[in-house]
Amino acid sequence: MTVAIVQRTHPILRDKAREVPLSAIGSEKIETILRDMKAALEKEVDGVAIAAPQIDVSLRIFVVSKKALRHIAKKKAEEGTYEDLVFINPVIIKISKDNKLMEEGCLSIRYAYGKVRRASRATVEAYNEKGERFVRGASGLLAQIFQHEIDHLEGVLFTDKAKSLKELTPEEWEGMVN
Ligand code: ZN
Repeated sequence: MTVAIVQRTHPILRDKAREVPLSAIGSEKIETILRDMKAALEKEVDGVAIAAPQIDVSLRIFVVSKKALRHIAKKKAEEGTYEDLVFINPVIIKISKDNKLMEEGCLSIRYAYGKVRRASRATVEAYNEKGERFVRGASGLLAQIFQHEIDHLEGVLFTDKAKSLKELTPEEWEGMVN
């Protein structure tokens, strides 16, 4: 059974998530949370990424789906195998001044879409699921994902920032993602 993704009015989405103690990385508790996050992502056809508060866990973790990484690689005509990418205690250490309005949605705000101004490039430092520190730079969609997910950890939703927000019916949404 997969865990449910909490929806827009759930108060946990507005909390500032807590840091994961480094000693807890690799523990049964954190492994279970990561498993639940990946399973919840897998279930959503448009699941590019998820933050822990979206499965009702107020911890600083987000996961980018292999689906999203494959999609980004395809656009660059790169090939390879992709795994879900785990970011624990992520911090943006570098962000570009140039930005653009990007179309955005959220697994917790069905079925709203809007344009959000996001930096074109961002670099994040985080810990992986083995507790190793790493740095990942990104542009475009992945940079947008970093900013959207870290906003979640601060209790910020894209609808707080979006321009020209539109609400789709479930039927319109079906038509869009399929
Ligand atoms: Zn979201």
